[in-house]
Amino acid sequence: MNAEKPGTQHSDLLIVGAGILGSFYAYHALQRGLSVTLVERNARPTGATTRNFGQVVPSGLDQSWQIHGRESLRIYQELQSQTELSVRQNGSIYIASDDDECTLIEELHQINRQSDYRSELLTPDQCRSKYPNLRSDYCRGGLFFPEEVSVNPRQMIHHLHDQLRTQTNFKHRFETPVHKVNPLKPDLIEVETSTGETLSANKVIVCCGSEFQTLFPNHFRKSEMKLCKLQMLRLVSQPQAVLPGNILTGLSIRRYESFSQCPSWDAIKANESKETFAHQWGLHILFKQELDGSIILGDSHDYTSSDQPTGLGFDIRSDVNEAILKEAKRIMDLPSWDIETTWYGIYSQTSHPSGIHLETIFPNVHITTGIGGKGMTSSAGFTRNHLTKLYND
Ligand SMILES: Cc1cc2nc3c(=O)[nH]c(=O)nc-3n(C[C@H](O)[C@H](O)[C@H](O)COP(=O)(O)OP(=O)(O)OC[C@H]3O[C@@H](n4cnc5c(N)ncnc54)[C@H](O)[C@@H]3O)c2cc1C
Repeated sequence: MNAEKPGTQHSDLLIVGAGILGSFYAYHALQRGLSVTLVERNARPTGATTRNFGQVVPSGLDQSWQIHGRESLRIYQELQSQTELSVRQNGSIYIASDDDECTLIEELHQINRQSDYRSELLTPDQCRSKYPNLRSDYCRGGLFFPEEVSVNPRQMIHHLHDQLRTQTNFKHRFETPVHKVNPLKPDLIEVETSTGETLSANKVIVCCGSEFQTLFPNHFRKSEMKLCKLQMLRLVSQPQAVLPGNILTGLSIRRYESFSQCPSWDAIKANESKETFAHQWGLHILFKQELDGSIILGDSHDYTSSDQPTGLGFDIRSDVNEAILKEAKRIMDLPSWDIETTWYGIYSQTSHPSGIHLETIFPNVHITTGIGGKGMTSSAGFTRNHLTKLYND
């Protein structure tokens, strides 16, 4: 029996942070019949979950995370069949621009056959008939993943919250920063908020994205965590362009973890120049067109370690944006390259081989963060799987 304080709002599970990780923990916990409170600092989340491309691309992940990514595809589709979440199944394509990249897509295609993940090798002509704006002097072939989906990153999480709000066991506190987590007993945790309200739960999961230094600064400093800042652009609406689904290009083939399983990977990477601007700023080019015709274009990667969290600065560098545009123009012929807006996002990424930072601070107080650049792709599946471990099923 828990001795909850009278007047304190109590739930089975309290989650701090309503980004994609926190929100999918909430979703699956409700499916398990638990009562859930989701606490979010802002009126609406504005972290990495709303600043990304919305590409759901298990094809880019290593084998262990691809399992979570594929499970996430099923969960997104299931949710979309119940409510409008902005999920669209238009597949993903990786466009190769030279012999090395062609070798890597052919090798990944073979690996996918063994792991029973559907992919199709496309000739340059087939690529151009699917994506007419693709430049023929760039495209040497493509690898297409028909099952993959995309979401609208500025809408999806809010739609998911609307879905959660329809459930009786769900409570939420938005515009409510958590400033302290107090374990009173092993299964009674008190959470203090800056609004003066105290909440309690049998279990707490902290999903604060890149900000867990606020609640647990010492743990954050000692973690194997990096922070990564990414620059992004959106091009003005251009309904004349046809860029369905997730479009990933040559530098992504040379970056994404799935390709590191390919037999030729080491030799190809050993031959790459490390001195280029693109390498220095971690550039690769992704395109994602929204329903209104605008195109999300990016990105760059600038890292700092968790003991220097202010190391990233707050500038948006125009030389980086210009380099993104220059490389993008080598790939596509678009009616307009006018920029509607630019922004940056920050995610936390663990260096731990597990690919995620999981830490139990006290019994029943768990941190989950550091999922890096794969959160939109894998959180839905990962959180379902992790809850079964946390509840010892
Ligand atoms: C530019 C960019 C592009 C990306 N593109 C893709 C992509 O196309 N596909 C893909 O799979 N992944 C992509 N990612 C990665 C993905 O966005 C992240 O992995 C994911 O959003 C991380 O989710 P999160 O829930 O851990 O963190 P966040 O989204 O940062 O959420 C954390 C939440 O916690 C809240 N919070 C923090 N502290 C407190 C507190 N004390 N009290 C209450 N609330 C608190 C914050 O306000 C925030 O809403 C991209 C990331 C970026 C930045």
